[in-house]
Order: sequence, then C-alpha cells, then structure tokens
Amino acid sequence: MLTPVECDPPTLERARATLAEVFGFPGFRAGQEEVVAALLAGRDAFVVWPTGGGKSLCYQLPALVRSGTGVVVSPLIALMQDQVAALAELGVAAAACHSNLPPGELVGVERRLRRGELDLLYVAPERLLTERFLALLDGVPLALIAIDEAHCVSQWGHDFRPEYLGLSVLAERFPGVPRLALTATADPPTRREIVARLGLDGARLFLASFDRPNLRYRVVDKLGDPGRQLLAFLASEHAGHCGIVYRFSRAKVEQTADWLTAHGVPALAYHAGMEPEARRAVLDRFRSDDGVVVVATIAFGMGIDRPDVRFVAHLDLPRSLEAYHQETGRAGRDGEPADAWMVWGLQDVVNLRRLIDAGGAEAERKQIERRKLDAVVGYGETTECRRRVLLRYFGEELPEPCGNCDNCLQPTATWDATVPAQKALSAVYRTGERFGAMHLVDLLRGEATEKIQRHGHDRLPTFGVGGELDAKEWRTVFRQLVARGYLEIETDGFGVLRLAPRAWPVLRGQERLALRVLRRPEGRRRKVATAPPAAELLPDAARYEALRALRKELAAAAGVPPYLVFHDRTLREIALRVPATLAQLAEVPGIGAKKLERYGERVLRLLAEHG
Ligand code: ADP
Ligand code: ZN
Repeated sequence: MLTPVECDPPTLERARATLAEVFGFPGFRAGQEEVVAALLAGRDAFVVWPTGGGKSLCYQLPALVRSGTGVVVSPLIALMQDQVAALAELGVAAAACHSNLPPGELVGVERRLRRGELDLLYVAPERLLTERFLALLDGVPLALIAIDEAHCVSQWGHDFRPEYLGLSVLAERFPGVPRLALTATADPPTRREIVARLGLDGARLFLASFDRPNLRYRVVDKLGDPGRQLLAFLASEHAGHCGIVYRFSRAKVEQTADWLTAHGVPALAYHAGMEPEARRAVLDRFRSDDGVVVVATIAFGMGIDRPDVRFVAHLDLPRSLEAYHQETGRAGRDGEPADAWMVWGLQDVVNLRRLIDAGGAEAERKQIERRKLDAVVGYGETTECRRRVLLRYFGEELPEPCGNCDNCLQPTATWDATVPAQKALSAVYRTGERFGAMHLVDLLRGEATEKIQRHGHDRLPTFGVGGELDAKEWRTVFRQLVARGYLEIETDGFGVLRLAPRAWPVLRGQERLALRVLRRPEGRRRKVATAPPAAELLPDAARYEALRALRKELAAAAGVPPYLVFHDRTLREIALRVPATLAQLAEVPGIGAKKLERYGERVLRLLAEHG
C-alpha cells in the first residue's frame, strides 16, 4: 500500500487549488495525488499507468506549484505540440524545443527559459543532451524533470530509441531536481531496465491497473476482405465518429483508406513511407476534424492523445498484447464508452511468423517474439472473458468476468468438431506436413486446383472428404487447431503446417475436441454487442448538438481542435446541467478559470436561447 501524502499539507492544498483553478478538474484521478505529493516533496517517481490514465497531470501540476521550470523529455514532436497547445488553452506558459522549430522561435523559447518565464518546457532528448542545452539548464531553476515514454530507454521494450540512453546523465547533472519517469508499458523486464538505465532506484513506483473498463473488446473472424466488415461495423456503430484503423502493411493502409473514402467515410492513410509533410497534415486533421478515421500501420501511433477516439479497429493482428493494449488504449481516453474491435484470420498469424522468422533479430529475441505472438493468438481464440486474458498477461487477475467484452456479452457457442479436426489433421499428415491451410482446405473441399493435381493430391483418400464445411469454416478450424497447439506453423515463412504432438490423441480418436462456432461480425449478434445508447445520459440531443456546433465555431476561431475547447464529457455535462450562471458553469468538470473567461458567456447565451 502507498503511504499517504508525503509533502506538507499547505503545499498539497495549493496543488488542489491549482488543479481546480487551472485545469478545471474537481479532483484527482486515482493515484495522481500520491505522485504529485511525492514530487512536491522532492522525491523521484516512476509512473507505470495505461494510456489515458492521466499521467501528464502528474508532472504538469507539480511544475506549476513548484518554483522553476518543469522540463519534459518527449520523443515525439507531435505530442509536444499537442501538449503545448493544450496548456496554452489553459493559460499555462509552456513551450517546446525540437528540430522542427524555426530558428527564430527557438531563440525566443530559450530567452523565455533563461528569464524564468516558462512553467513547462518540452524538449526532444537529442536536443536536451547537447552540452549547450545542458549548460543553459544549469543556469535556470528547475521544478522537475519528467521523462515521458520512458520505455524508449529499454532494449526489451517495443520502442527502443538509442538517444534515450544518454538520459542517465540527468541524475548526476541535476542532483537536487526531482525526476519522474512515465510509461504505459507494463511488463516487468522493461520496467527493471528503465529503473536501471535512468538511475531511478530510489524512486517511488506507481503501478496502476491496466484495465480500461470503458473499452469494449471484440474479436471477429476475418471473412475474406475485411474492408466490408469494417464498413458494416462503422455504419452500424460509429457513423461520424473519430477512430483509428490498424493494418499490417503500407499497401493495406492505402487500400483501406481508399476503400473507406470511396464509401463515404472520411479516411486518411498514415504510414512511415509518407513524406513528413503529408504525415503532419494527416496528424493535423486527425487532431482537429470531428469524424475523421485514420488508417495506419501497426507500428504507428505514439503521439496521438486525442481524447475522443471512439474506436480502434485492428484489421490485422498486432504483434504482441503490449502493442494491442497500447493501440486499443488510444480509444476512449476521455473515459466514455469506446470500442476495441479486431478481425483476424490464420493468414495474419502466418504473416507475422514470417516477419519474425525472417527478421534479423537474435535467436533468443525471436523466441520471445514468437511467444508474444502466441499470446495474441491465444487472446483471439479464447472463449473466456477477454479482459481477463488481457490483464492476466500483465500480471493482473480480474475477480469477475468483465461484462463488457464479446465473450461476456455473448458466450461463445461451441460444437463437437472431433471429426472435422481429424480430417484436417490427417490432411496435414497425408500431404507430408509440407503445405499451408489454403491448400489443405482445397484438398478437403475437393477442389481440383492446378496445385492439387500437380502434387497428385486428388488421389489421396482425404480429397473431398470435407464437404460438410465451407472454405471459411475450414479455415477457422485450422486456425483454432493452431491456436490450441494441435498444429504448428513451420518456421519457413510460408505458413506450412505440421502436426504437434498433441494432435495424435485426436487423430487416434482418444480425444474429443470442441471448437468455437464461426463468429460473424454482424447479423444476429449485433443487437447485444452494440454500445449502450447514450440517450438516457443525454436529455436533449438538440441542445448537445447546438453546443457541439458552438464548440466547433469557438475552436475554429481560436485555431485549436474542438476537444481542446471542451471535451465531449464536459459538453455533455453542460447539456445535462444547463447552467444559468457563470458560477454554475464553473462547477462543470473541465471548466477552469481560463475557459470560463474565454467561453463562458457564449455558452450561457446559447443555453439561454435554447432553453
Ligand atoms: P496519459 O498520458 O496517461 O495517456 P493523459 O495525461 O493524456 O493520459 O490524460 C488522459 C485524459 O484524462 C486527458 O484528457 C486529461 O485531460 C484527463 N484527465 C487527467 N487528469 C484528470 C483529472 N484529475 N480529472 C479529470 N480529467 C483528467
Ligand atoms: Zn469480459
């Protein structure tokens, strides 16, 4: 258990007042107060919280309360720019130092820093670590040093950045300044490496649950072209919403974005192969447009902290559950219901296996990556509460099934698949364990393709014995046999299937096997799986829409994204409470002094007109 407050009560009182006054938040979120108190007491801290947990406030607030400038190390320019813009909206003096800044502006920022005018300074690690910049900081009182995305320092993490290694000098160079490392990557080896490399042995560790209760996890079978499935999902549940779609390759990214656009969904492609200019334009639109969908490669993502992303859709399998948790975590940061929706098929597993096997990593690392992939497959295939499976991977045990994943909402039906499983396994055996699922399905279905004839497989006793299932169903049988360890994927990169030792009892008729029925994304189950209607929480949709329009107008006038003016939740609270005075409006969470001053009158006028 955490010991309570470490800093002196008046200072903490000041922090609470600043929280309300500047940020407009009525109170701390779980854990924030303890972190803030530790920093205010001059101690180091290490915060491991999931995305959306409210980490930024942990350094922003103490930086305001303590004297001096808070320095924030961040690997991503987009993220810095977002935060600086958000802070400016709150009336906080913040700036960013990075390579994209015009030289003139850079000089200005450094001047403000020297004069002690900055509450917060965001800086890229490679710039911070120049001797010139360190010397500059020597001459400035520092409130704290925050190291964001701290897992970038770890070679075992999933986003190693060599420039982060140099950050170990900060401990020696600024011994009296409290340091705070923050990350959303939870696995213990990465954590240990962060502590060691950043010299944080004395730091208080703050570990939060990785549960994101407002996310609804769903996994459906990939049925041919996932574009259609995605479109149906968007049409039925997320029309006009902001979301992210992850795809495996650049080509698929382009293809899916085009497909969505052609079908009336405003979609933008984003991948590493694009010009920086074009990427920045996408990020800008993603930050500011209301119902925009970004289609991106799986590697992309850090640096998006838009709070009202309503869905994250994986059209291809992520490489690890860490990546999956992080990617899905970009939905619903505002705490409102959001969807984590994934389609997958056996070919995804084969593709990722090929990538791992053909990659340049050392054997040991490849083994780790294969195990990580196995965990993803296990997650996709599970009939248990998905949240339970996901959290267990991060070392957490959920006491009850969550009630907010597909398996909880609609327990999976299973069928006795012993006979089809025997047919599938014997197809593998009879063809000498040298073929992938596609070919084996052709064999079972009795399709006399050129390849079947070339290998003489139309003369095998298994040829055509599988008429009872269609090709899609056969593919899910193969996938489940892989996921459950009856079949193994050969490490040759071509998806060749081999019998695992576990297959023999089934083949010999000593073991019966129950498999899940094919999970169709739409149709019968749609009703149950749709997010609960927000209707009862929104007494007047017209009023809400009017407020939304006002927000858009205010945002356009201020040149900032709408959510920086008010979050959806703030907007909804206003629509619910219908405040009549500025004092009442100030009570709404998310409305601080600056927002009240800037937008208060306009909001009240609109409410008065609308009744
Ligand atoms: P993280 O960096 O951990 O991913 P953020 O710092 O971006 O999370 O915070 C997520 C969201 O929660 C932001 O929209 C932020 O404004 C909001 N938030 C943070 N702290 C509080 C609080 N005490 N009360 C209400 N909202 C908060
Ligand atoms: Zn569940």
